[in-house]
Amino acid sequence: MASLRHSGLRITTPRMLVLRALANSDQCLTAYGLHERITKDGAHIDVASVYRILTTLSELGLVHRIGVLDGFTACRQFHEHQDQVQHWVCQECGKVVEVAMAHAEAETLVGRAKQGGFVPKTVHVEVVGLCAQCQ
Ligand SMILES: [Zn+2]
Ligand SMILES: [Zn+2]
Repeated sequence: MASLRHSGLRITTPRMLVLRALANSDQCLTAYGLHERITKDGAHIDVASVYRILTTLSELGLVHRIGVLDGFTACRQFHEHQDQVQHWVCQECGKVVEVAMAHAEAETLVGRAKQGGFVPKTVHVEVVGLCAQCQ
């Protein structure tokens, strides 16, 4: 009977719920948007927890913050350099595409910043515009 009772349960942690919801969306989602999606599926989690988890996942490099939309997207690349990332962000539908940033590209930006007396830590380029569907 115990096995029956457990058969219907999915083994999910809140962290996995957040990551899965992001991975299933090609759009950038805010913490509130994510919370809405997750709870609509019947899970119980509060917005503060979602936000905390997003911070942790960002630190782990599994999630990227999209500043221009104040939202988050799952990492779609294998990063050799976690601190070098480029996104194409659609201002119409919120779709986000992660593209590999060539090391030389990042070095150019880092070099220019250093010349200006700035100490660069991460290079995150957000190219804002219209995706193929929204043009
Ligand atoms: Zn990434
Ligand atoms: Zn679009």
